[in-house]
Amino acid sequence: MEWTEQAARIVAASGASALAVGGALFAAHWPASRLYGSALIAPARPEQIALTFDDGPNPRWTPMLLEILARHNARATFFLLGKYAVLQKPLVRRMQAAGHRIANHSWSHPNFAFTGNRRTHAELTRTQQELESILGEPACFFRPPFGARRPYTLRCARSLGLTPVLWNAMAADWKATTVDQVAPRLAALIERNHTRGVASNVVLHDGGQHSLDVDRSASVAAVEALLARFNATRRFVTLDAWIPASES
Ligand SMILES: [Zn+2]
Repeated sequence: MEWTEQAARIVAASGASALAVGGALFAAHWPASRLYGSALIAPARPEQIALTFDDGPNPRWTPMLLEILARHNARATFFLLGKYAVLQKPLVRRMQAAGHRIANHSWSHPNFAFTGNRRTHAELTRTQQELESILGEPACFFRPPFGARRPYTLRCARSLGLTPVLWNAMAADWKATTVDQVAPRLAALIERNHTRGVASNVVLHDGGQHSLDVDRSASVAAVEALLARFNATRRFVTLDAWIPASES
């Protein structure tokens, strides 16, 4: 992932103890780290799965995703980039009307571990304002790009009424070219979470930070496979089903 390269550069350039800096970067990026404040991951409800999608909307692949989700009568949560949402307002409203939850993924996908307070605030508020004007209601969830954050990132999100969200099931779907690189890995992680007694917070990508209409055929096919495999035995929920039960 991009952030590991950035992190490596920062560690290399730093005069401070590499161990201390490495520890801080670990805390800044690792989903389960609570050092920089709490974030929603997944509650102790092993029968539930939240499908979440980042970096959209995508004019080609998001509508296909909507069709698949509708066919399986499943709802999902979409973490949108403000810069893409503002270009596709009818699509965003379609997603909302279909019962999906729309959430904030920043305006332009910066790495918030290396972003100052002023820009962090601007990235979140600009997206929040645009989403509210499109949806007629405020978004309630925020996922930091790359999972990267500083204490201010989560404080800022919470001050805007946003619950920070991370994940506990991810395959490298943003660089996958076939469904086989994504679906089996996610299914194994979902089973692992189930064995551990927790729900699965699955992150996939319907968009891409660098391009509005990036190819997401592998991710979309993986969703079809996961719904076919789990829809009979598990419940697919949107993230608001987990508030306030798991928020701490
Ligand atoms: Zn992202």
